[in-house]
Amino acid sequence: MQQEFNKSRRWVIKVGTSSLVTAEGHFSTHQLESLVSQVVALLHRKIQVVLVSSGAIALGMDTLKLAKRPHSLPELQACAAIGQGKLMRAYETAFSNRGLHSAQLLLTQDCFQDRKRYVNAKNTVEALLRMGSVPVVNENDTVATEEIKFGDNDVLAAQVADLVGADLLILLSDIDGLYLKDKTIIRHIRSSAELKECAEHIHAKRSEKTKGGMETKLQAAQMAMRSGIPVVLANGRDEHVIDRALKGEEVGSLFHPTSEKMNARKKWLAHATSTKGRLIVDTGARQALVNGKRSLLASGVVACSGNFRLGDPVEVVDESGVVFARGLVNYSREEVEKIKGCKTGMIHSILGYKRCDELLHRNNMVFLVPHHFKERF
Ligand code: GLU
Repeated sequence: MQQEFNKSRRWVIKVGTSSLVTAEGHFSTHQLESLVSQVVALLHRKIQVVLVSSGAIALGMDTLKLAKRPHSLPELQACAAIGQGKLMRAYETAFSNRGLHSAQLLLTQDCFQDRKRYVNAKNTVEALLRMGSVPVVNENDTVATEEIKFGDNDVLAAQVADLVGADLLILLSDIDGLYLKDKTIIRHIRSSAELKECAEHIHAKRSEKTKGGMETKLQAAQMAMRSGIPVVLANGRDEHVIDRALKGEEVGSLFHPTSEKMNARKKWLAHATSTKGRLIVDTGARQALVNGKRSLLASGVVACSGNFRLGDPVEVVDESGVVFARGLVNYSREEVEKIKGCKTGMIHSILGYKRCDELLHRNNMVFLVPHHFKERF
């Protein structure tokens, strides 16, 4: 399995605070530079990368010259607010020195629960990746505290991996993998049962500047395994850890996917009982969707019904009335009424803006076998 990673197209790499600080706990530009160099090597191999990076609190603490992590949440949030801009400046400097750009995305749990926010976040990431930029995600610590309290972005990273449909999630921390008390590294975890068994014996450690522990790493690994995404837990202090994973070396612990890669959203879409509306499409569009594996464009839509808004689930129906797909729609009913049947190039002049080319993006669709509502892919 490890040897296959260089064939994957999209990696999410979670960079824990410990991978960006010195042994004394101070932010290290050198460590960030080494990480960015390895990410650039992936991009040169045509692997898209989304970073989920902590480090804001550590940088804020450095700025305020605090030796110990504050206990109160507002103080931690304030440290993050001070450090986040500096963190992004460090990333932007490192990437722009290599002719690339980074982009800041601050997310919270709401972004994964509210479909409209979810679709917006996904569309933004997709656009950034198409532009060749490197999205750098962190929790929006001013308005949310889940990751400060519990996880140093472990769970957030698993959610982002699911959001972007990653082929691989790498959790970089300051440990060489999942290891037992006698320091034996567990190289492969192949099932939830194995993961549970490991959880009872693993050795954990915590540092002054971060809250993440093994518990949240295992939680993140389990989420990804269930979404069909392999996870590597490895040591971010090893300056070549990503290069080594790319070369197929056995690094850290590998959590194997426990299901086919159909993410929770697709499962939800396939089995959701209520959709908010319908898009009726012509024969050409149906062909393009089912056989051509394309997304749905406005030109293929002949009519619509219901009262759907951006991000709502809708049914896709052919002209004979057969419901053959479901998807999360990128335009509201009012908008679709105006742009249906039109070429993509017309959307901007009709609406005064264009959110995206697709009414339904292929990644946000599932295909149904009529009467069974079974996934075809
Ligand atoms: N969002 C936080 C940061 O960037 C997470 C890390 C933590 O809890 O220390 O620093």
